[in-house]
Amino acid sequence: MQKSIERIAGDSEGHSYEFPVFRFEGTDKAAPSAYLQAALHAGELPGVVAIDALMPMLEKAEAEGRIKGSITVVPQANPIGRAQYHFGEHQGRFYLGTRTNFNRGFPLLAAPDVELLPDTTLGTADQRLKTRLLQLSIGHDIVLDLHCDDEGLAYLYVHASLWPAMADCAAAMGVDAVILWDEDTDGTFEGASITPYLNLPAEVARFDRRVATTVEYRGILDVDGALAGADAEGLYRLLVGRGMILDQALSTSGSFTGPNSFTGFVAPLENIDMMPAPRAGAVLYKVKPGDRVAKGALLATIVHAPGEAGGRTQVFAPQAGIILTRRSRRIIRAGEDLLKLVGGRKSADARSGTLED
Ligand SMILES: [Zn+2]
Repeated sequence: MQKSIERIAGDSEGHSYEFPVFRFEGTDKAAPSAYLQAALHAGELPGVVAIDALMPMLEKAEAEGRIKGSITVVPQANPIGRAQYHFGEHQGRFYLGTRTNFNRGFPLLAAPDVELLPDTTLGTADQRLKTRLLQLSIGHDIVLDLHCDDEGLAYLYVHASLWPAMADCAAAMGVDAVILWDEDTDGTFEGASITPYLNLPAEVARFDRRVATTVEYRGILDVDGALAGADAEGLYRLLVGRGMILDQALSTSGSFTGPNSFTGFVAPLENIDMMPAPRAGAVLYKVKPGDRVAKGALLATIVHAPGEAGGRTQVFAPQAGIILTRRSRRIIRAGEDLLKLVGGRKSADARSGTLED
């Protein structure tokens, strides 16, 4: 395993940012290669601790000569966001210099060729970081971007072209749900990872062996040793299943292979009801992630005028489904999303296109 340090110049003289990259060299050039990163939204740490638990497993495999495909690991992909504190609160989602989401604005290339990346030497630090992350990741057959939601189940975003070919990955990782999307206009990292392949001939794009996904490892508070260990095992199973690591015992168990191996919930993005709050106030949730609800069920009550007649507003399920996520904080403004409800049909406020991470 080789460790190198990446440096990203800051927006003014005298400061820069660093992050480490770990590379495991594969022994078989024909084997697929993988790129894993965590904490692009710098405060989302379940994936960081999952990688911390995964690294000894990879080092053991390397010591035993079992790594066939090259594996690149970036445990903390966003040193800029990692350093952003505003009045004592960590701010890892948006670049404070431009208010741009760290998981938007990645260039959507016409082909998987790093030569097509823009010259960002005159751009802002976050643009330089995004360009560098794409340089590191493009060309790998498997690209995993580890995030988390606010409070939620473990789920994946997957481009529709990769489903159900990626069912084995979802099964190996042990996630609860998969959300399929079909168009990225905002430039998410996942979008930038899959879009360059969409217009290539099938025999070049190789969707049968390609993996690109945003992994939502539950909620922001789910930074936990036991979960990290289980998630690391899930990532390891995926790498074994897809031929990057040899592990005879795991390979012969066979329960994570095949297009029908995933038994969780699968739905298109347009089936998610985001439930914008009708009023501002304190949220009293009636449901939590994983709950199944009937159409018309009470989801939450917003206390907008405490102690007054008519000071509470109830929000009901517009369709039957499962609660995927909810907010971790209980204060809400009018129009902010209360939760994600995934149902069996297109939601009334379906927001087309890109994933919602
Ligand atoms: Zn995120």
